[in-house]
Amino acid sequence: MRLHLRGVVLPDDDVRDLWVRDGLISFEPVAGADTLGGTGWIVPGLVDAHCHVGLRYGGGDEDRAGAIAQAETERDVGALLLRDAGSPIDTRFIDEREDLPKIIRAGRHIARPKRYIRELGIELDDERDLPQIVAEQARFGDGWVKIVGDWIDRSVGDLSPLWSDAILKEAIDAAHREGARVTAHVFGEDALPALIDAGIDCIEHGTGLTDETIDMMVRHDVALVPTLVNIATFPEIADSATKYPVYAAHMRDLHRRVRDTVAAAHAAGVRIYTGTDAGGSIEHGRIAEEIDALAGAGLTRHEALGASSWKAREWLGRPGIAHGEPADFVVYESDPRTTLEALAAPAYVVLRGRVYPRRDPVTGHR
Ligand SMILES: [Zn+2]
Repeated sequence: MRLHLRGVVLPDDDVRDLWVRDGLISFEPVAGADTLGGTGWIVPGLVDAHCHVGLRYGGGDEDRAGAIAQAETERDVGALLLRDAGSPIDTRFIDEREDLPKIIRAGRHIARPKRYIRELGIELDDERDLPQIVAEQARFGDGWVKIVGDWIDRSVGDLSPLWSDAILKEAIDAAHREGARVTAHVFGEDALPALIDAGIDCIEHGTGLTDETIDMMVRHDVALVPTLVNIATFPEIADSATKYPVYAAHMRDLHRRVRDTVAAAHAAGVRIYTGTDAGGSIEHGRIAEEIDALAGAGLTRHEALGASSWKAREWLGRPGIAHGEPADFVVYESDPRTTLEALAAPAYVVLRGRVYPRRDPVTGHR
């Protein structure tokens, strides 16, 4: 398929012509290309940097058809690169599918017994096994490893760290020796200093960040994926935790101040990227809402879109819109930096040079 498009290309905001041939972008004219109508803004493929293809909505393992449906849902909203922040199933079969987003896997979640969602991750009875398991998951994933940094400790009745400081350092060093980056699920305050000191590369959620740990994130160049679509569910989590009032109050407090927390991190210079946490308790296909939520948390709308597009792609080592690079981009009729409605309704999604027109929201047809 040979295509021609003309529109405002982001992030540079220049009006230009693009051609697509053999799945690649060309800045030079391609003979015999069909011109796509309805094009206004052309944005490098969006990134959901925290989602879980293979984790069923409502919990449990997805089957192949379900995982494919999740990936299709992401593609249709323009999320063409997914960082899978821990999946209970092996989704490598998706790599064979030219029509599905690229997945960067983090292997399986690594937790301790009773200290995460049951049976979702690998549960270590003895924390001394952490470095070895991290190294194994680093070899299994696509350059990332996911550790559960904190979770409710029912014997304490509040969030608390899962690991000792010393073992985290050993584990993160082990991942780095395998060439993998490490990220951690962290809701509260207490787990953050040791993880950042130990050389972690990214923090997921990060609702417990304080001025002090934000400063540490900046000094250690640690990225943040706030998952605001997920944080919006904290009040429900608190409501269901009637036996743990301290934990419930803590979750409500983290939720209440999350926009200030993200804004403070952004203002300090922490690199922030979009993740919806889809899979499990969040449905797939909500990247537009996450971008919109970041725009309500101290980022400009241009910055929030960048956090999901050109900036996130660069962070994950993927190109933007450039001559000779894969034709993975999203086309909008109106500027996606104006409203949630504009962002949520791409006119076309182009993945590996193939065009996926907008589905009719009522009939589901293209
Ligand atoms: Zn998650």
